[in-house]
Amino acid sequence: MTDSRRKSLQLESALRDALANDEIQVYWQPQINLQSGEFVGAEVLARWESKTLGWVAPDVFIPIAENAGLMSQLTRIVFAKTCNALISMPSAIRERLKVAVNLSALDISQPGLLDDMLAELHKHALSPSRFELELTESALLDMDTQQLAGFKDAGFCLALDDFGTGYSSLAYLNTLPFDVLKIDKSFIAQIPHEQSSCSLTHSIIQMGRELGCEIVAEGVETVEQVVFLTKEQCHKVQGYLYTKPLPIDEFVDYCESYQSPV
Ligand code: C2E
Ligand code: CA
Ligand code: CA
Repeated sequence: MTDSRRKSLQLESALRDALANDEIQVYWQPQINLQSGEFVGAEVLARWESKTLGWVAPDVFIPIAENAGLMSQLTRIVFAKTCNALISMPSAIRERLKVAVNLSALDISQPGLLDDMLAELHKHALSPSRFELELTESALLDMDTQQLAGFKDAGFCLALDDFGTGYSSLAYLNTLPFDVLKIDKSFIAQIPHEQSSCSLTHSIIQMGRELGCEIVAEGVETVEQVVFLTKEQCHKVQGYLYTKPLPIDEFVDYCESYQSPV
């Protein structure tokens, strides 16, 4: 057995334990409306601090969950924790938030996941329209798009994540009911210094707006990027300039004392 195979099996076994032992947490990163300067949403991101392995990054454990058939269990945990956190936060904050949840391609075809998510919402009297389900372009390649439309029909908003890095962006935009485009952070990182990233970002915002989509820029780290994105009429931003993703208590504190850094 190769070292990498052994490592991957060790991670898989630890992840199974983590799912059973409540080791997965959900962190929250605010999204800011550029016109008002106020926070209006948040993306929730899975975090895993393993008792045996320490912190394991999502880029490592999400693919393991997908390959080991654990993804829908992980998604259910993340979604349930997100709903629980939402209803326990002060209503003045909750009512301002649209919440973005990441889904994997495998989730969309998972029998029963949509019904379970709706049942979870019903339990807490939350509406699906309060949620944006984020899918990457590469995930769309492996997906039954009719099943994806089922999530939209049930009332969820759909966001196309990492936009600009996949293969068939324009064709998907034409056929699928996306409400939100998220410009990939690799473009934002080069603003305002690299002309091609500025031009691409400009074009994505123009096109997205014309299609009636809301545009979110992720990975915003500098004031210069905010100035550029405001001028280009991008709707929302998120990134380390505001804060890294936070555990729920710190997120609520952040919202309560929020002051725009720009
Ligand atoms: P993503 O959905 O593109 O999430 C954005 C990533 O950028 C997050 O990494 C976030 O912490 C990071 N980020 C936020 N602001 C900045 C910034 O200003 N600069 C930079 N350089 N990075 C920033 P994270 O949390 O490590 O997640 C990595 C990926 O793992 C996510 O990428 C997403 O694809 C996946 N992921 C995380 N949680 C979940 C989940 O619950 N379900 C699924 N299916 N995937 C998840
Ligand atoms: Ca995302
Ligand atoms: Ca992204």
